[in-house]
Formats: sequence, C-alpha cells, structure tokens
Amino acid sequence: MASSSPASAKELTNGSVRWTSSSLQELVDRLRTLLAIDRAVVISIVPSNPKIASMIPPSATGQPFQLAIEQAFLDGLPEDELSAVIAHELGHVWVSTHHPYLQTEELANAVAMRVVSRDSLERVYTKVWARDGSNEDIVKFLGPRMSTSAALAPNK
Ligand SMILES: [Zn+2]
Repeated sequence: MASSSPASAKELTNGSVRWTSSSLQELVDRLRTLLAIDRAVVISIVPSNPKIASMIPPSATGQPFQLAIEQAFLDGLPEDELSAVIAHELGHVWVSTHHPYLQTEELANAVAMRVVSRDSLERVYTKVWARDGSNEDIVKFLGPRMSTSAALAPNK
C-alpha cells in the first residue's frame, strides 16, 4: 500500500524497520481513516501475546479499542505485512462496531482487504502458522482467491 515508512520508524542496518509505538500508532490511524472507523484505537507493543496480535474491545463506553502486538513478531516485520496485521485487527474493530454478532476471522479479513492486499495477509498467516506449527487452510480465513487473470482467461 504505502511505499514510505512513517518518519518516526527507525531503519535497522539490514534495511528492515524497527517499529516504535509512535510509528505504529501513525499506521493504525492511517488505516483506521481509510476504513472509516470513527472510534479511537490505541496500539501497544507487548512482550508476549499468545495470539501475536489481538484486539481488546472497550471496557466501558467512551474508552478506546485496544490493539496489542508482540514485540518479537513485530521486529523486522516489513511495512506491508505490519499493515496487513493491523488492517486485520481493525477489521475486528469494524465488525464489532457494525455487525458485532458476525465476528469471524474471514469477515475481519474481508474488511482488511479493502486496504491491504490478500498476498500480504497470506504472508502474515504463513509466518504465524510457522510459529504455531499449525497448518490451516488459507481459504477458510481469506475466502477464495479472485484471480483477475483467471477471470479474463478464455475457457479451456
Ligand atoms: Zn483475527
């Protein structure tokens, strides 16, 4: 999506980005605006998170939604994959505020794919599952792939 990193993100010597709380928050707010979510969302970097990244709904009216992302997973994550993680979690925020009884991974991803590519989400799932040692069917999470080249190809 965006080609440049937020100004406050520091570049590591290997060219990857060291994400700071403020650069993460900028990214959250940018994607939140693109998704037309008008509720406040605050992200924090946590030492460990069994789900790697998660969304915590407000505990009381007027409180922000919270996202928590694990430091070790975050370190060295390229911007497009980080955007995919955040867009997925914002997808959950969007679902909570629009269709709270329909909260599923697939719907969160359908919302996320309004602003990030399916490929970037797929790369993130591959990393998450490699860490868990799990082997899931990507189609259950992202829905069937809509290939424009297949759609345009003549029937055989
Ligand atoms: Zn999710």
